[in-house]
Amino acid sequence: MPPPPKSTAGRSEEARALARARELPNSRTATDVDSLRRAFADHLQYSQAKDEHTATALDRYFAVAYAVRDRMMRRWVQTQQTYYRSDTKRVYYLSLEFLMGKALENNLINLGLRDSMRDALASLGLELDDLLAQEPDAGLGNGGLGRLAACFLDSLATLQYPAYGYGIRYEFGIFDQELRNGWQVERPEEWLRFGNAWEIPRPEYEVPVHFFGRTEHFVDEHGKHRVRWVDTRKVLGMPYDTPVAGYHNHTVNTLRLWRARASEEFDLSDFNRGDYIAAVEEKNLSETISKVLYPNDLTVMGKELRLQQQYFFVACSIHDILNRHLKTHESFDGFADKVAIQLNDTHPAIAVAELMRVFVDQYDLEWEKAWEICRSVFGYTNHTLLPEALERWQVELFGRVLPRHLEIVYEINRRFLDEVRASGKADEGAVARMSIIEEGPGRQVRMANLAVIGSRSVNGVAALHTELLKTELFHDFHALWPERFNNKTNGVTPRRWLLAANPELARTITECIGPQWVTDADELRRLEPLADDADFRRVFREIKRQNKERLAAIVKAENGITLDLDSIFDVQVKRLHEYKRQLLNVLHIVHQYLRIKADPAYAPVPRTYVFGAKAAPGYFMAKQIIKLINSVGEVVNHDLDVRGRIAVVFLKNYRVSLAERVFPAADVSEQISTAGKEASGTGNMKFQMNGALTVGTLDGANVEIREEVGAENFFLFGLTVEQVAELRRRGYNPWEYYRNDRDLKAVLDALSSGRFSPGEPRLFQPIVDSLLNGGDPYLCLADFRSYLECQERVSQAYLDPERWSRMAILNVARSGKFSSDRTIREYAEEIWGATPTPVA
Ligand SMILES: *Cc1c(COP(=O)(O)O)cnc(C)c1O
Repeated sequence: MPPPPKSTAGRSEEARALARARELPNSRTATDVDSLRRAFADHLQYSQAKDEHTATALDRYFAVAYAVRDRMMRRWVQTQQTYYRSDTKRVYYLSLEFLMGKALENNLINLGLRDSMRDALASLGLELDDLLAQEPDAGLGNGGLGRLAACFLDSLATLQYPAYGYGIRYEFGIFDQELRNGWQVERPEEWLRFGNAWEIPRPEYEVPVHFFGRTEHFVDEHGKHRVRWVDTRKVLGMPYDTPVAGYHNHTVNTLRLWRARASEEFDLSDFNRGDYIAAVEEKNLSETISKVLYPNDLTVMGKELRLQQQYFFVACSIHDILNRHLKTHESFDGFADKVAIQLNDTHPAIAVAELMRVFVDQYDLEWEKAWEICRSVFGYTNHTLLPEALERWQVELFGRVLPRHLEIVYEINRRFLDEVRASGKADEGAVARMSIIEEGPGRQVRMANLAVIGSRSVNGVAALHTELLKTELFHDFHALWPERFNNKTNGVTPRRWLLAANPELARTITECIGPQWVTDADELRRLEPLADDADFRRVFREIKRQNKERLAAIVKAENGITLDLDSIFDVQVKRLHEYKRQLLNVLHIVHQYLRIKADPAYAPVPRTYVFGAKAAPGYFMAKQIIKLINSVGEVVNHDLDVRGRIAVVFLKNYRVSLAERVFPAADVSEQISTAGKEASGTGNMKFQMNGALTVGTLDGANVEIREEVGAENFFLFGLTVEQVAELRRRGYNPWEYYRNDRDLKAVLDALSSGRFSPGEPRLFQPIVDSLLNGGDPYLCLADFRSYLECQERVSQAYLDPERWSRMAILNVARSGKFSSDRTIREYAEEIWGATPTPVA
């Protein structure tokens, strides 16, 4: 039972006194330059206890961050009050990953403080950019899925939706990537070492979470069958709240991340036995739950700790959501009208069983009623068709960690299968495929099936991906419930990816068409006529060159390589995965190299090939490919014969803050996945928004990007989904391509011969073997010739700068569809039924 509320009389007295106190002059959160300077000085002194002699750059960063945070607090409180009073429908975005990057610049921009803060610091002889560089990235995600969640938070606040992000406050986010002799080495990234200026710990809202134990079935005093979950081990979830400010409005939403803490009574027995050390060791064990992000992108490992992480943050979040609802409602009758919960992939899909458990076991709701509510609050977003990414848990493991949830999953499944059989709409094959339980030796719980069965909406993340979901992965479910399936093409926030990352281009765009595009990206269309304006094209090229200079300075400092600013900056940055085909890119580079070596007169249009990619630590082939890129770079960059023609750069530790420097500097965006494998991609959109031209297959959102920009402004190559299927039906033999294409043979022979691995001739044999003897699962060889021809068209186009910049400008002008504002509006209107709730 919660404690009785304080008397209303006492509270309103406090409210009046607080209001009077806030009317006093000298408000500490004014936003003029003088007040910002004062706030900085105060925080340096009162928060950091430093003066101008002792302050480090980091102290100064914290002083600025605190000054900015102060200016979010009133709006944050008012936003929450507004949602509370209006009893508006809330949206909860559950995600195991939030790849936020840095917060300070984004907050300055959204609050409209960037220029005044820059001036305030300049008057103290400080450069804002130097302080921005001090902030560590919040790298609580692997790649696209986690970054999507971060872009969504920005759009939700900007569009004034009453929304909350829920996730885990990992002590270690994605690893820091170092290179040793061209090989990836992982190091833990201690992003919290110096503290986090943005989070507010809320120990007072701690939530108990149970694991293990067993269930007891009994009959209660009303003769009703009930279940207790007993003999559990308890862990506490402590929330840390981060404010998320909308762009130029009064909305500040909350990202609530949970940290695992040992419960005090947890090890009383050890303490009582006098084993103090053993008890404290046990404490550590329960706190490992929020210790580290699993660094596998799109592959699952079936590790117990991972299941514990998923259940931990889901249980905390569901508890929080129900508590908030019960503050203003007597029962759960209208729950589905007030709450929408979106599951970012199947990682939080256990929420379906958890909500049922809490309703049925704790609040004593009838199963049917609980299920009806459940089924109308959840939405599930699928992010991939790759079989290795589909989450399945061994029934044994699942039942040991979450015995009550396993019973609930069985019951959900039993009722579902009965219903399907009764409907006569599915044969036994379909029934077996749709069952939440995969039968056979080592039975498994299929989380995707649980998510589909427990949700009112299932969406893919690009038009093509959604079609493939309907016809392949979820074909049986689609036949049963076609109305549940819908598409929500991904997007990215133009605040971070254009306004903040490319300030010169943003300023120029605003000069030409006004500032509306920042929150209405369709306005960018008004740039179209300027593609035919020679002066504008010149300015556009100058900005691209400045951005290339900025990236070149990073490359010089990190890699010691001097880049040719006149060369094509041809960029592939994304997680390393075989389906993304970084290898195809390398095959093309090796081909170019061999061609130059064979024909000294061959002078291709100069290109700089830029890569950035982290590999999952246990992904052998991905790590080989990173080594290959670096080895090819080593040879190419030091060969005097190719000087000034091609160069290869691998940027280490690709992450959000580095990405913000890379996209604006790119001429060419490599989006070359095997058709049907990339669900959407979002990097492709960031490139387009910054005026890079895409070399791409008809995969994921590339299809829609090409539709928007027009076929003449997109470099298309490669097999389509249908052609891939056809080729596989006929029987794909990579050796045929090897034998029939002399250039391809020369490239693979060069890799086999040790040309790029002096002293270790067999180093890259596993790569060649996977292509030839391993069946080339991602069809690099099948698409090689088409890719080469496409790259030739790219070079020809670049020779005509006027034509190229015209195409690039049209890419920017037609990028409006890929604003995450559009995506979020579609989720809100078509899935959540949420309405904007502005803050006065
Ligand atoms: C956008 C982004 C991604 C996703 O890139 P894709 O090319 O869509 O795979 C991954 N990592 C970071 C740091 C990003 O900013």
